[in-house]
Amino acid sequence: MSKGLIRSMSRKGTRKSKKPPVAAKAAPLTDPSCCERCGALFTRQAWRRAGKRSVDLLARVEWTVCPACRQAERGEYFGRVIIAGAFAAAHEPEIRQRIRNISDRARFTQPERRVVSAERSRNVLEILTTSQKLAHRIVRELKKQYHGRASYAWSPDDGSLYAKWERG
Ligand SMILES: [Zn+2]
Repeated sequence: MSKGLIRSMSRKGTRKSKKPPVAAKAAPLTDPSCCERCGALFTRQAWRRAGKRSVDLLARVEWTVCPACRQAERGEYFGRVIIAGAFAAAHEPEIRQRIRNISDRARFTQPERRVVSAERSRNVLEILTTSQKLAHRIVRELKKQYHGRASYAWSPDDGSLYAKWERG
């Protein structure tokens, strides 16, 4: 596990409690392991996206649930994106589609990077992501395409990356 991942794990928060959870010691995974929910494959120290699998390989895999699926199930996130402003509200379907495309692309290369939830609360759209990098990428891409204002901060409550994009 890389230093970056350990660091971000100690910063993660959950939707239910704002307290950072105690990092659980995960048992080493069998190579190959396959996620029974999303089909991601763990081999050579990394999770790889779902794709064509040989009968041979599937006969050897250990079935498990990958960290991203566990995280999504518990509502845990490392990144929080807030989308605000009149322009954003008026173009919400288009912006949601754009975010889906960005997260699909991220997930294609890294199955761990995904959107946990996308909900409108009062006048903002809140997107929770499993990775800080994905939250950053969403805001960066929205700014690139639609201009507006982007800002980033780490939450003092749970250490997640708080990324905001706004266009009035
Ligand atoms: Zn999975």
